[in-house]
Amino acid sequence: MVPISFEFYPPKTEEQRSQLDRTAARLRDHAPDYVSVTFGAGGSTLSHTPESIQRLRGQHGYDAAPHITCMGGSREEIRGLLKLYRALGAKRLVTLRGDLPSGMVSPGDLRYASELVEFIRAETGDHFHIEVAAYPEMHPQARDSRADLEHFVRKVRAGANGAITQYFYNADAYFRFVDDIRAAGVEIPVVPGIMPISNFSQIRRFSDMCGAEIPRWIAQRMQSYGDDSTSVREFGAEVVAQLCRRLVDGGAPALHFYTLNLAKPTLNVLSRLG
Ligand code: FAD
Repeated sequence: MVPISFEFYPPKTEEQRSQLDRTAARLRDHAPDYVSVTFGAGGSTLSHTPESIQRLRGQHGYDAAPHITCMGGSREEIRGLLKLYRALGAKRLVTLRGDLPSGMVSPGDLRYASELVEFIRAETGDHFHIEVAAYPEMHPQARDSRADLEHFVRKVRAGANGAITQYFYNADAYFRFVDDIRAAGVEIPVVPGIMPISNFSQIRRFSDMCGAEIPRWIAQRMQSYGDDSTSVREFGAEVVAQLCRRLVDGGAPALHFYTLNLAKPTLNVLSRLG
């Protein structure tokens, strides 16, 4: 198997904290390379990411990498966050533009992930290993896939070391994307983001928002299971495990699992991968 990593979101309540603790403990045996924690929109003071990084590093012994976004505020506020993450021992950052929460008009001083990568390099040199986002099925706000690819290349040239993809269920989209960026001279590793399926209506909602396509054959089969959640889980795990096998056989350098802070859906896929 290739190296794996797990993504969590930062809990805000005691109950969510306990859930993250249980999930982090249950995933431990799979010895991930690192885990990452998303950055909630709304500014650094509202984000619980630093607290979760501290918890996952201190209490669970994980190499925990924070996500950081342009929504982290002004340059000064982002500078503060970088200082905090260095002090917490972080050496890897997942660097993104983020999305504006509804009702918010200005994202801060930086507009695109490429500007944030550039800023982090200028502020901290080579201290951080920087991951950026990639979209094999195109970012939903991009003008077209060619423009999206050009923007991706710009983001890498600004100083990214690696990329993690938006989730997808169509392996060919990933292989084509990698071929395209290699043709454009980009050599960094591109790690597929894997979204296990355990609750189909939730995945469908996410996919509508982020532009990930659910192939018709998967959607039809899921619909046929109706309320039979065991069959949904079993079929979902089999489909995603098969996708992972294809990706690894085709050269994917690692796999990054979107856990949604639940252990079981990810474990169901990993157990099938052996
Ligand atoms: P960018 O790379 O800046 O691209 C955004 C859009 O702008 C694209 O359409 C691109 O083509 C276009 N663009 C880029 N540069 C230019 C330019 N110079 N001129 C014109 N157009 C341009 N969101 C969060 O809020 N918190 C998280 O923790 C988080 N984690 C994520 C982790 C992963 C692995 C992924 C794949 C996504 C994550 N997201 C997160 C979601 C992400 O923030 C959104 O998808 C967001 O809309 C785009 O972020 P980006 O970094 O890809 O943006």
